Amino acid sequence: MSQQRTYLDWNATAPLRAEARAAMLAALDVVGNASSPHAEGRRARALIEGAREAIAAALRVKARHVYFTSGATEAANWLLTPNVQRRAGRGPLALLLAGATEHAAILNGHRFPAAAVELIPVDGDGLIELGWLEARLAEAVARHGAGAVMVAVQAANNETGVVQPLARLGALTTAAGALFVCDAVQALGRAPVDSAALGSGALILSGHKLGGPQGIGAAIVLGEDLHFEPLLRGGGQERRLRSGTENIVAIAGLAAAVVAALSDQQAVAAHGLALQQRFEQGLSRVRGDAVVFAAAAPRLANTTCFALPGIAAETALIALDLAGVAVSSGSACSSGKVARSHVLEAMQVEAGLASAALRLSSGRSTGLAQIDACLAALAQIERAHARRHPQPAKPAQRKVA
Ligand code: PLP
Repeated sequence: MSQQRTYLDWNATAPLRAEARAAMLAALDVVGNASSPHAEGRRARALIEGAREAIAAALRVKARHVYFTSGATEAANWLLTPNVQRRAGRGPLALLLAGATEHAAILNGHRFPAAAVELIPVDGDGLIELGWLEARLAEAVARHGAGAVMVAVQAANNETGVVQPLARLGALTTAAGALFVCDAVQALGRAPVDSAALGSGALILSGHKLGGPQGIGAAIVLGEDLHFEPLLRGGGQERRLRSGTENIVAIAGLAAAVVAALSDQQAVAAHGLALQQRFEQGLSRVRGDAVVFAAAAPRLANTTCFALPGIAAETALIALDLAGVAVSSGSACSSGKVARSHVLEAMQVEAGLASAALRLSSGRSTGLAQIDACLAALAQIERAHARRHPQPAKPAQRKVA
């Protein structure tokens, strides 16, 4: 018996795009190793370099800026190191300032000593406290000298969809001579991402969030003089900075997905906004006190992080799944466990309310009917909850004679 499923968890992973599938199927027939000098090897090399150029053109960067990795997690582990060579004579970086709502790939993936890491606070809407950052950068420059700091702030948050002001962040970090590394995993293809805002910093992307395959990503290193200490050493692929035989099938799929996602980004965002409005209006009818987190901040149109107060996320998640609807709770992106969301915690969301937080994320092929199916399932969950927790009856009003 097959149940029709409603997939609303695109921020966890997005369905493969037709363009990516076709590119991958074609690449499966490429036999050579790109490091071999013979014709087969040259064919594999041409595929990789073609993919690099396509990604570079879509992002308006140079092909030499693009390095392929096994995903955003690897890119973060590689780039977030104190051992970055910039200009001759400069020592290791002294400080990493990372947004408090960054993904675990950033917060746990960096290679700085714990004492050299500070979290940049966010406000109640999840937006970076720019005043705090500016003041901390000034202090750090006074103490360690210009260029001793790395700043890691994401373009958009995976749980709440909050979009950070990249241009202002870029201007602040550049003015302080800091190195800006931006995790653009959730934003690319969903909101405009101007790589020029990063100055001579770096950007991280992941294939499976934009309709490419899982297990592939890229680091876009914009600074011409930057040299991040390699994470993977061996045969010297990717200009000696990321060794290991290239995954040409995944690289082909990634390039096709990036090109397609960036070319229909505006249309997808407009479509997402209509879905988001439908969902959030419908949610307020399910429960008058439903909460949409970061409602006042600029957000990705495809994402709503919300809570029905008093209904635990785990309970709702299971009930939705049984009703055929896939959403997500907190940041259960990797472990499948429902842990407390550090994102909502950083936004000072009260723990009880945070434990009810669910995330709906949509994409280009999501229809209004799927949003309505999710709302209907939520209404059913709410009715079951109300039956189990009846509200005390209000005292009858005495009639005034
Ligand atoms: N950064 C963000 C914002 C994410 O949402 C994710 C995945 O959920 C990652 C990084 C890690 O990406 P990958 O799965 O490619 O390692």
